[in-house]
Amino acid sequence: MIAAAYDTPIVGWQGRWANTLRLWAAKPEEGFDLDSFNRGDFVAAAAPEAMARTISRVLYPDDTTEIGKELRLKQEYFFTAASLADILRRFETEHGDLHKLPEKVAIQLNDTHPAIAGPELVRLLHDENGVPFDEAMDLARNTLGYTNHTLLPEALERWSDDLFGRLLPRHLEIIDRIDTAHRAAYPSSSVTIREPGVVKMGELSFVMAHRVNGVSALHTELMKSTVFEELNALHPERIVNQTNGVTPRRWLLSSNPRLASLITARIGEDWVGDLEQLAQLEGHVDDPAFLSAYAEAKRANKADLAAWIEATHGIALDPAMMFDVQIKRLHEYKRQHLNILEAIALWQAIRAAPDADWTPRVKIFAGKAAPGYYFAKDIIRLINDVADVVNADPVTRDKLKIVFLPNYNVTLAERLIPASDLSEQISTAGKEASGTGNMKFALNGAPTIGTLDGANVEIRERVGEENFFLFGMTADEVVARREIDDHAARAIADDPRLAAALAAVRDGTFCPDEPERYAHLVDNLSGPDYFLVCSDFSDYWHAQRAVDAAYRDADAWTRMAARNTVRSGWFSSDRTIRGYLRDVWSAAPVI
Ligand SMILES: *Cc1c(COP(=O)(O)O)cnc(C)c1O
Repeated sequence: MIAAAYDTPIVGWQGRWANTLRLWAAKPEEGFDLDSFNRGDFVAAAAPEAMARTISRVLYPDDTTEIGKELRLKQEYFFTAASLADILRRFETEHGDLHKLPEKVAIQLNDTHPAIAGPELVRLLHDENGVPFDEAMDLARNTLGYTNHTLLPEALERWSDDLFGRLLPRHLEIIDRIDTAHRAAYPSSSVTIREPGVVKMGELSFVMAHRVNGVSALHTELMKSTVFEELNALHPERIVNQTNGVTPRRWLLSSNPRLASLITARIGEDWVGDLEQLAQLEGHVDDPAFLSAYAEAKRANKADLAAWIEATHGIALDPAMMFDVQIKRLHEYKRQHLNILEAIALWQAIRAAPDADWTPRVKIFAGKAAPGYYFAKDIIRLINDVADVVNADPVTRDKLKIVFLPNYNVTLAERLIPASDLSEQISTAGKEASGTGNMKFALNGAPTIGTLDGANVEIRERVGEENFFLFGMTADEVVARREIDDHAARAIADDPRLAAALAAVRDGTFCPDEPERYAHLVDNLSGPDYFLVCSDFSDYWHAQRAVDAAYRDADAWTRMAARNTVRSGWFSSDRTIRGYLRDVWSAAPVI
């Protein structure tokens, strides 16, 4: 099989530099079986081509089946081996001496997906270039860094050694040798890369990298105290933190031209390459002229979004309503179901007292589920079913709307975020490694309602606790609550609003044609409820009512939004990349 390189130039800010993004396509060594073709077997003739291209046809194929898992492993090896071969090819033409590899090359493992790079690089150095095994291991380790992106156990890859040994027998031998060497170096430790029947890619990545980083302060501390506790004790200097960031060029300058122009009019344009300059706006936040221009930019962005949603999805929204937005991958830990349950409870409360002083809001959702994740797909369906019922209710129509926008992607995010009033960052504490959506919203003047999770913690510290709507259990409290067997039943018994919202989902209010549709979902929430939706519901409800009250004071809300923008400069990816250069890659910026 051939890996064919496709290069895309990535042009930097103001065209001062361009990097090459090199992507690989799988192609057969021999593309076309002419003999089969001439015998009339046209399918067989095309088979080698089709089989080879399968490897790079779909990114993240469904891995819930054995065939899917095998394709993933082949894909991970294919891309990793192609990149490493290419890196060594270029290194040899430019430098030659393989002992200089760590000095000249930095390779970052973005999650465990390319973890095979450790043993593959050892194989290239030792098997193909005659470097002694221990030296090959040291060179590989000093070249590699590993970024951990999640503590969810199901996301730290574990391969069956059946599959692994069948596809990559030499790599399995090398991994065994790496494991043996590590255990020999630390005889009192119980850490293993191999366990009977499995290869543990998280442990392999840790052992084969000279730096291992988390992506927010909280996540890095949790890495040290949970998944990598023992490895951290053996290698106390190895784990470092690099809190994620977002690029201000895409997430402010390009996506929110109205706000960008207002900022530039006040402090000049240098903030674009140095986002911390937003701090210079601090004094402007009390200037009525600045505040009204800030509010006007948000209003115009909301009007644009409302017009687009009406034109493309036929749903009319009043831009005066609060735009409450939760957009991210669908996952139980991100708790879109907490949000829709609160929407149901709010709908019920408005119906019970339609003339009370409600703060009109639209809840906007968008997000995709992984192909094999049926529970997440049911949550999408529930949100759509609830939207159909709530949006058609003449009693509540002017006070609550629910919109699920399909095909969530970066383009949609760029439309939504500048037009958002409220950022939903409501994951179960301890589960969201960092989040970057949270940063995009804060930068664009949407205060957060959120838990103390991932980078929310650092966002709240920087924007100020008075400009952030905090709710929910802490990561420690989450661990303690899970010890209580009937935590969900207790939470439901203590909160009639939650009980009523769950009852409506259970009795088919939102799916009268198939009333049992969400029975399993309600069973899950009232039983195991691993992500503690029920336990955090009451606090979330009350935090939402505090949001309602705050939004009604338009000037105070605008000040809060503006303070989120002004104090978000630290969340630039430029700051993050400087951190990797300094702490992980030991490299200096070129410009
Ligand atoms: C920023 C972004 C994400 C990450 O969002 P989180 O809220 O941090 O999970 C996911 N998808 C798209 C399209 C994004 O733009």
